[in-house]
Amino acid sequence: MDVEWGYEGKRGPEHWHELCDWFSEGAKYPYQSPISLSHNEQLIRNSEQAQLFFHYQKEQFTEKEFKNTMHFVPFSHESYVIFQNVRYFLTDIHFHRPSEHVIDGRPQEIEFHLVHTSQQQKNLVVAVLCTFDLTAPELDKIDLTTEWDYPNHLQTFSPALFLPKERSYFHYTGSLTTPPTAGPVQWFVFDHIQRFNPDFLKEFSEELLEVNNRPLQEKKERKIYFVSKHSSADLER
Ligand SMILES: [Zn+2]
Repeated sequence: MDVEWGYEGKRGPEHWHELCDWFSEGAKYPYQSPISLSHNEQLIRNSEQAQLFFHYQKEQFTEKEFKNTMHFVPFSHESYVIFQNVRYFLTDIHFHRPSEHVIDGRPQEIEFHLVHTSQQQKNLVVAVLCTFDLTAPELDKIDLTTEWDYPNHLQTFSPALFLPKERSYFHYTGSLTTPPTAGPVQWFVFDHIQRFNPDFLKEFSEELLEVNNRPLQEKKERKIYFVSKHSSADLER
């Protein structure tokens, strides 16, 4: 059932839609992701429709490798966001290197995806772009209440530790960036570039691909929203 795919050669992104019917069906969705975003393009600013509300809390995650990257999968679904009165539960956290989205023409070294799913199985992804910085605190030291149990691949943390303090974001409708690249997916891409200590990746280095980002897709006629928030306070419960 699982069709093998990758990021280069005959199973690379240009060929995903040829690998099976399921992928070919997904690729028909006209508004694909990722796309290039810019502060200087025409943006619909601070629209009510683009508001996202975070209800994240500390919970237990298990660490797994699949779909060509490392994932943190929550045991239960305690963290969620609210978008247009619909609740989307956090179902997965993973990353791509280098970033998939590009902001103001600059790709970054890593992009985290916090994937959420509604009861109707609709997807919403929060994306955080980061630059590597060896002086940045390591992921497990950002929040001192975080508990990391490396041998058992278990971690207990609040997913809020991935979010920047300055919570301004772009919002648009796109697709999954991995096969079957189906849509619609509601995307929220923070514009504040976080600093991320790459030491964290050493632990997984043997299991990870050097490159796992899908190339930029055509923007077409898409509405891009921008919501500016100066503090996180108004987004919390
Ligand atoms: Zn992703």
